[in-house]
Amino acid sequence: MRVRASIGTLALLNIIKAEQVELPTTAYVLLHSDDGCMAECAFCPQSRVSRASKSLVSRVSWPEVDLELLVERIKYSSVLKRICIQSVIKDNSFDDLLRIITSLRDEGVAKPISVSTTPIDYSSLNQLKDVGVDALGIGFDAATPEVFKKVKKPYSWEEYIKFLNESIEVFGPKKVYVHLIYGLGESEVEFLKSIEYFKGLGVNISLFAFTPIKGTSYEHVVRPNILSYRKLQILKYLMDLGVDISNYYTVKGVKVIIDKSLVEEVINNLNHYCGGFITSGCPGCNRPFYNESVTGPHYNYPSRIFLQRNIEKLVGELRELFNERE
Ligand code: SF4
Repeated sequence: MRVRASIGTLALLNIIKAEQVELPTTAYVLLHSDDGCMAECAFCPQSRVSRASKSLVSRVSWPEVDLELLVERIKYSSVLKRICIQSVIKDNSFDDLLRIITSLRDEGVAKPISVSTTPIDYSSLNQLKDVGVDALGIGFDAATPEVFKKVKKPYSWEEYIKFLNESIEVFGPKKVYVHLIYGLGESEVEFLKSIEYFKGLGVNISLFAFTPIKGTSYEHVVRPNILSYRKLQILKYLMDLGVDISNYYTVKGVKVIIDKSLVEEVINNLNHYCGGFITSGCPGCNRPFYNESVTGPHYNYPSRIFLQRNIEKLVGELRELFNERE
């Protein structure tokens, strides 16, 4: 059986030779389909309607690989801590998903497995739990029902919410990860309200920044403002830490203005807050350069070490947030 795996995963496992600045500690695996995904998400190269290479997810290349070889290499890797399997909509996608998981377990791979999927039925959710899936990712991607419709996500917002509630029931909220992409057309305030809504349900948020990919219908849409993204990262991180953020920002039209003292606090204690700027996802998720080129701007830093190397740039961006108040 053929699957795809991110180029960093394949380089780490010595299946291909590729220069990588940062190597992941999670194996990223994607269901394979020659035609891509049957959905029509406007920003996604996997969509069957995009002209982009089907080896791309966001800006990262995912070459094809034989499942048996991949499982064999994962089995003997001491570096990998988790396996993340992402689905696409295609015939028999759930069967493929189960086959990948079963192959891993049959070979004795006991590492935790995350699955990221579009809505599936309740019994399939239970099946995933039964075969040992440890965390469930849900690609809402769009933060509001309006944007959801505009970017042509499959199913409906309501179906996704129903699926989210069922996932919470089956896995528990702490094991559910909602993927949100900032920059698909919503305002800062709308995006923040969406984060607050999902956090209120007790689930985790994996935060991404929109990246235009050639060949998709959003190829000419501009990337989001990095300062807007920094604000959302800071407030989301505070929420992750269990802080009530209501006293730390004000709303000015469609903009979120972060309290000056909070910005100062973040700059002065970057060691404590740097987790907010690092790739967010399941435990240990460090998919490198999903949103950005190696040279930046770095919306999500893949690791603390990489962030430290680029800390002056980050501090410069954070200082710019002071000007917003004028
Ligand atoms: S459902 Fe997921 S993989 Fe399929 S086109 Fe949309 S974003 Fe891409």
